[in-house]
Amino acid sequence: MKYCGVIVNNESIALDKLFTYRIPENLRGFVEIGQHIKVPFGKGNKLKDAFVISMFDECENTEKLKEISDICAREPVLSDKNIRLINLMRKRYLCTYLEGIKLFLPRGLLKGKREKIKLVLYSNNELHGKYKEEKYASIYNTVKENVAKYSRNELSKEFDYSLSSINTLVKHGFLEIKEQRVNRVDERTFPHLPKKNLTMEQLIAIEEIMTSKRNEFLLHGVTGSGKTEIYMTLVEKMLEKGKQSIILVPEIALTPQMVERFKGRFGKDITVYHSKLSEGEKFDEWHRVKQGKVKIAIGARSALFLPFKELGLIVVDEEHESTYKSDSDPKYLATEIALIKGNIENCKVVLGSATPNIETYYKFKRNFWKIISIEKRVDGAEMPEIELIDMRQELENNNKSFLSAKLYEEINERLEKKEQIIIFLNRRGFSTFISCRKCGYVFKCSNCDISLTYHQKSGMLHCHYCGYKESSTKICPECGSNYVKYFGLGTEKIQDEMEKLFPKARILRMDHDTTRNKDAYENIYSDFKNKKADILIGTQMIAKGLDFPDVTLVGIIAADLTLNLPDFRSNERTYQLITQVSGRAGRGAKEGKVILQTYSPDNYAILYALNYDYHGFLEEELKIRELMNYPPFGRVMMINIYSENENMLIKGVHEFSHKLKAYYGGKYNILGPCPSHISKIKNQFRWQIMIKGNIEYADAFKIKNMVYDMSKSTYNKIKVGLDMNPYNTL
Ligand code: ADP
Ligand code: ZN
Ligand code: ZN
Repeated sequence: MKYCGVIVNNESIALDKLFTYRIPENLRGFVEIGQHIKVPFGKGNKLKDAFVISMFDECENTEKLKEISDICAREPVLSDKNIRLINLMRKRYLCTYLEGIKLFLPRGLLKGKREKIKLVLYSNNELHGKYKEEKYASIYNTVKENVAKYSRNELSKEFDYSLSSINTLVKHGFLEIKEQRVNRVDERTFPHLPKKNLTMEQLIAIEEIMTSKRNEFLLHGVTGSGKTEIYMTLVEKMLEKGKQSIILVPEIALTPQMVERFKGRFGKDITVYHSKLSEGEKFDEWHRVKQGKVKIAIGARSALFLPFKELGLIVVDEEHESTYKSDSDPKYLATEIALIKGNIENCKVVLGSATPNIETYYKFKRNFWKIISIEKRVDGAEMPEIELIDMRQELENNNKSFLSAKLYEEINERLEKKEQIIIFLNRRGFSTFISCRKCGYVFKCSNCDISLTYHQKSGMLHCHYCGYKESSTKICPECGSNYVKYFGLGTEKIQDEMEKLFPKARILRMDHDTTRNKDAYENIYSDFKNKKADILIGTQMIAKGLDFPDVTLVGIIAADLTLNLPDFRSNERTYQLITQVSGRAGRGAKEGKVILQTYSPDNYAILYALNYDYHGFLEEELKIRELMNYPPFGRVMMINIYSENENMLIKGVHEFSHKLKAYYGGKYNILGPCPSHISKIKNQFRWQIMIKGNIEYADAFKIKNMVYDMSKSTYNKIKVGLDMNPYNTL
């Protein structure tokens, strides 16, 4: 082929297209689709990274074409299938080619990262002559016992040998230095875990998945129904067929048990791939996968894009979790990509959850895809009973504490029986709202339109959005009175109060603030597991995947916290969160119980959650979504517009919205413009426009270009962000 279409590594949206280059004689026959190459670009013909997307022999206007300069690596970095997926993502999530391509590559690649090489020592000729003396012999023998393990410096440091003696031995050929590729990832191994005898339900599910002609499966099973065992057996079956598997988990740091179980079962065939890895570590793991050294990836959503050649299985565990939606461009949904990828690569896709995402469930029903339900826990235990406490009633009974009388009593009972307790509140900090009772002044962050949270440990008021801190005060900065009061409740305050209420109990807290340091999460987790504490207080961090057999009571302090957000998914979230937190109780032989406190006892999400009635909730929720034309019945396109210059922003937003309504007002429902729920973050003012309806991707694409034109021309201080079916509308 004589010509190729390439995507050049360039951030500009205007350049989001294929550029045609000529393939010079000397490179013909060497260029392949998906290769990483260098091309001269722009006026100065600066060399830039680029990727070959298409190749052809015929082309018009060839006189002006530039030639590609070089091929960076023979082996393509993108496969045909990857490129198909990138094209689809560009359409569906309104991203650029380059944003799509970058998902498939380790960041280090474009920055010229190389594999890490260490110069290690080998023992060579036997010692003779004067080199047999002790000082040389001990060095020589150490190397002989540890061939290819140490570099010269390491050896010298570790055993206190003189570097010059080591060098002497090298110089005379007794020791030899060779290059060795080292892996930057710290390999932790876990004790071997034997297979379990599978239950009938597990066997049936596996049989169904392995033999069905279709690729899509929704595994709807209560917590503890043995889904993870099913995943592991599927992975094993794929290994037998020489195929690889990707297991996605919502957040690696919060699922240590999952990694432990997989590593225990499959050893070092696994990579654990997530955002906490350094650039170098990611680079190495990506190469290990590419070279076929890794058969299984467990990871966050980014693991979906690892370069496996013979993918057999993708599992998305806890598929309803919002961490599967990317919060940076492209704002893709990993569950959706998993299904598309399953189609492109012809591999099995298993989405697992006790509370499937409403849109997922609906999609499976509509397409007649297979939904496998497991309604019983493996050990036969029942899901714990959930008792609802109306907190308004508590107030009437003159109980002003955050603990209802019932929860207080149940906690005491468990403490006496030496059983463990989990207390859940989805908000951290001490007081979450500080205001002056005289003039009504509210303490807010000066960079963000967000009320500050008091943290007792630091004695400061914190902004949870930008990290701003100021010292706490009793004097109102507005009126000078000393009527400043601290309202609201966070996990820090709960711990403080519970320590007073239950002085004998040993209490741990797990939230963002207590798990900042490395290993803090694992320490809290293992302390609680080893019964070094009676009560664990935490945010949604404790809702996921934890399995503590001695927990017999879960207290949900305020079940309505997620309800009052302006988000069409808020009821769904509430349902999921209650079900998940409740699943932490009664996982062992002892019966569990959940006390759910709320100020909204009539809310349907809460009522259905009380009975674990997923289908009841689903039906009710679908009615509302349909009525309001929200997903899965319509699409929502969110246009977020930001600027530090508020006047320009308001002017620009209105002008744009006028134009948008003139074009599309008849076809779609256009809401706004209005300030976002959080109207300022980090000194950026924020407005939004929401488009609802059966939005066609072609229209979405045109709208995208309209917004970018606006932000580029007149309003160059305005930034825009687009989100199809957003998970965060605040
Ligand atoms: P899920 O992923 O659905 O929450 P798990 O796979 O974690 O369920 O299983 C819950 C518990 O039951 C785990 O402790 C697991 O080791 C155990 N388990 C799963 N399958 C079996 C089995 N077939 N026999 C015995 N124990 C099992
Ligand atoms: Zn005041
Ligand atoms: Zn702030």
